[in-house]
Amino acid sequence: MVKFSAEEGKNRTGKRRCLPSSSCPLSDSGEEDGDAGDAGEADAATTGDWESSEHSSGGGNGSFDGGKESVTVTIDLDVLECPICYEIMDPPIFQCQNGHITCSSCCAKMNRCHSCLLPLGPTRCLALEKVVESIKVPCPYAGNGCGEIVGYAQRDAHKAACSHAPCHCPIAGCAFTGSVPQLARHFRSLHAHCGSSLPYNRSLKLSLDDREPFHVLVGADGILFLLLNNSSAPVGNAVSMVCIGPSSLKGRFSYQLKAKSGESCVQFESAVAAVRRRDQPLLPPDFLLLPLGFCGDQGRLSLDVSVWAKVP
Ligand SMILES: [Zn+2]
Ligand SMILES: [Zn+2]
Ligand SMILES: [Zn+2]
Ligand SMILES: [Zn+2]
Repeated sequence: MVKFSAEEGKNRTGKRRCLPSSSCPLSDSGEEDGDAGDAGEADAATTGDWESSEHSSGGGNGSFDGGKESVTVTIDLDVLECPICYEIMDPPIFQCQNGHITCSSCCAKMNRCHSCLLPLGPTRCLALEKVVESIKVPCPYAGNGCGEIVGYAQRDAHKAACSHAPCHCPIAGCAFTGSVPQLARHFRSLHAHCGSSLPYNRSLKLSLDDREPFHVLVGADGILFLLLNNSSAPVGNAVSMVCIGPSSLKGRFSYQLKAKSGESCVQFESAVAAVRRRDQPLLPPDFLLLPLGFCGDQGRLSLDVSVWAKVP
């Protein structure tokens, strides 16, 4: 079995990268020290993450794993990218009669090869599929405590769902990033006065300034929830809720918002979306529209908020 110490973005950075193992012939200094410590995503991008960490266990540049010989090689990741959409090719990978390859998504959209214009048929490039499937890389958040080794083609999915991925403190002017537990500790020690405690599975009465863009609620387990309040709508306020964390938190929580004004009542229920940062562009498309009449005389919104936590 051949393992790869993948060389990420050689053409983009002009720099060869390799694991910091003394056994690796390309490891020429301590500069590429893979110990990311508490490094967040930005650091992970500069410390050679997504490279195989297994090759250092063998002598020289090879080892045996389960009776199979493995060697460490470097690879230009461009060869794993679809030449049309530049996404990493996940099997099935297709090829024309001349061997030009394309990802399954682009193949489905094209009748002819982008390079030689021969018909693009159902011929698979099994050799490259095997190469892609054989590449295993550590999570880029290994420095934050993640011990997962994942298939190269699955790395982005894991990265999005990894519970060790850095999340951003929602408080304006604070640059802290950390995993969900780290963010919980940070918020408790520095910003406890900026949020409200959120008991799960029961109703909480909140009174908000109708111009306050968000209000932080702290779950019993330390997870931060943001009650987002968009007051720019001409007919009222759009209110929704997200939690701060990896995409794996999506579906873990659902919420209900209820507001009353005289004899009228509006109510809204939805799943809590997960975001890594407050200003993440992918905010939930659904929200409760609180008509202008629901805003009190003092410019305050009164809401009953309930969050239900599903048992993981
Ligand atoms: Zn493609
Ligand atoms: Zn071709
Ligand atoms: Zn991870
Ligand atoms: Zn902070």
